[in-house]
Amino acid sequence: MQMTHEVFNQPTPLVDYNLFDTNQGLLDALKFNAPSLATAELSALGERLGSADMQTHARLANTHTPQLHSHDRFGRRVDQVEFHPSYHALMSLATSAGLHGTPWGSPHPSPLPGGEGITPSALLPLRRREGITPSALLPLPLGEGRGEGSPRLFPSSPHLLRAAGFMLFTELEPSTLCPISMTYAVTPALRSNAAIHADWAPKLTSRAYDPALKLFSEKTGVTMGMGMTEKQGGSDVRANTTQATADGSDAWGQRFRLTGHKWFFSAPMCDAFLVLAQAPTGLSCFFLPRVLPDGTLNAIRIQRLKDKLGNKANASSEVEFEGTTAWLVGEEGRGVPQILEMGTMTRLDCALGTSGLMRQALSIALNHCAQRQAFGKALIEQPLMRNVLADLALESEAATALSMRLARAFDNSTDAHEQAMARLLTPVAKFWICKRGSHFAQEAMECLGGNGYVEEGGEGIMARIYREMPLNSIWEGAGNIMALDLLRALCKADAAAALSLELAPAKGAHPELDRLAAALPTRVEEMATEIEARRLAQDVALAVQAALLYQSAPTAVFSAFCDSRLVGNWGQAFGTLGAGTDFDALIARAMPH
Ligand SMILES: Cc1cc2nc3c(=O)[nH]c(=O)nc-3n(C[C@H](O)[C@H](O)[C@H](O)COP(=O)(O)OP(=O)(O)OC[C@H]3O[C@@H](n4cnc5c(N)ncnc54)[C@H](O)[C@@H]3O)c2cc1C
Repeated sequence: MQMTHEVFNQPTPLVDYNLFDTNQGLLDALKFNAPSLATAELSALGERLGSADMQTHARLANTHTPQLHSHDRFGRRVDQVEFHPSYHALMSLATSAGLHGTPWGSPHPSPLPGGEGITPSALLPLRRREGITPSALLPLPLGEGRGEGSPRLFPSSPHLLRAAGFMLFTELEPSTLCPISMTYAVTPALRSNAAIHADWAPKLTSRAYDPALKLFSEKTGVTMGMGMTEKQGGSDVRANTTQATADGSDAWGQRFRLTGHKWFFSAPMCDAFLVLAQAPTGLSCFFLPRVLPDGTLNAIRIQRLKDKLGNKANASSEVEFEGTTAWLVGEEGRGVPQILEMGTMTRLDCALGTSGLMRQALSIALNHCAQRQAFGKALIEQPLMRNVLADLALESEAATALSMRLARAFDNSTDAHEQAMARLLTPVAKFWICKRGSHFAQEAMECLGGNGYVEEGGEGIMARIYREMPLNSIWEGAGNIMALDLLRALCKADAAAALSLELAPAKGAHPELDRLAAALPTRVEEMATEIEARRLAQDVALAVQAALLYQSAPTAVFSAFCDSRLVGNWGQAFGTLGAGTDFDALIARAMPH
């Protein structure tokens, strides 16, 4: 065969590296938030997540998207979603690493049962076709059969530890984390029905992944989702029309029958959901299992799956309820605050997820630019590219710092200041980090030139990141809703004082941060109208990020962040840092290897 040309100056992909050990910003954020945190399990998880096997699973799960089977071939309704085995491998990894309900469980991780439903023999044809190594297809508990430490996370600061793991996992594959996040988030809300919580909690916190459709008591582990959004309103859920009529009571409390629909209903193969519906005294929160206690299927009709821009491996559906059985959770008529206890935790995950995607995009960009030559030297040596990469590195590190700080607040929920920070920083982090995500992804993609824009059968990870980015900003409360939620949080009497306390350690570190920190409490107290809510959310985010970087990052990072984001020595695009920036320090710190 005649060769027309030699392929050269094309980088080797970023693979088989440790996502945790090479993420200095994350390492420093963890050291700051929990100095004695044992991170060996995160390191083992980081190794596994960066492996070629897992990257192949991520590609396949996004290429072979979920398929809905509404009926069987005899016309009976089945309402099943079928997933590629790689999706199950990813889910198995996430649950065995404890990224779902584990932080709410016992302090000692349970043994790791194998993931039912994904037997290696069932995968043999696929294995040959796709060229995955057999070990990659085995149900994961990780570390087993690999002779290395398993990435099981031990909960000394359970929420922070889990948050770091969740962020790392996002770098591998974000869409499978949708049911993982909802399963994590459900516990605070579900506790309001003590009987259901007592029955389900052990399965929610189990590290087993069990995708079989059967009664919860027969399963080794369960997942949960949530249904709020209807056609006529998602942000304004008070517009929900789904009706709940009383149907007696039993061991799980007051039982209802639901009739209506949900317009967005992600991960419909979850074992149960919290949903909103109109009860006689108003909008209420209900627990809705897919399989009823008598073993029969509940009436959850999956109408179709959404054809989404990204988030391809995750199924998001439209469903109808037809006399569907559900149990009341919390007080009747108090459904919105009840389900928002779940929403708060998923909002944390949106910030974590976007921080993970930013780090992944940055790592790929750095890896590419270190190898690709243009105009006589590596791109990473070209001064203007150094500005772009350093600016992205700053943004990524600031996002990581804020996300980890927020996660820490959930580990200390009895402390008044941490409570205030959880309330204040949840909408701030969700708003600001997720808003920055799409812009960030576009710029990181551009570092790869044309290759960045190409899908190439799922190999184009930048395209996948770019398609995923807007989602965290939209779901679980879109940008405006987050900014408005900040206003509600600020109505609390002690909000301004709590913010001042949070910023106090950085007092005197930078004149512009001092100026902003001095002005914010007044702005917080005077904030009366909605029109400036986004601006306030942005400024609170920047001030807190700067204060965190002062405490956890080198001076070069802190100074560059303040000079660009606070002083205004910065343009409208990435790559506009001032000439005096310590580019060498910022880039060296961010390198993924
Ligand atoms: C892939 C995907 C999966 C999803 N999965 C689920 C799920 O599992 N369960 C679920 O319940 N939902 C789910 N959602 C729905 C999602 O949470 C909603 O789309 C979101 O909350 C916005 O609601 P909406 O689409 O009705 O838009 P709207 O509520 O109509 O909002 C449209 C725009 O108006 C803005 N807006 C609304 N009110 C105001 C106001 N007062 N002032 C200023 N601006 C305002 C919003 O910020 C938004 O930008 C999913 C969405 C997506 C895209």
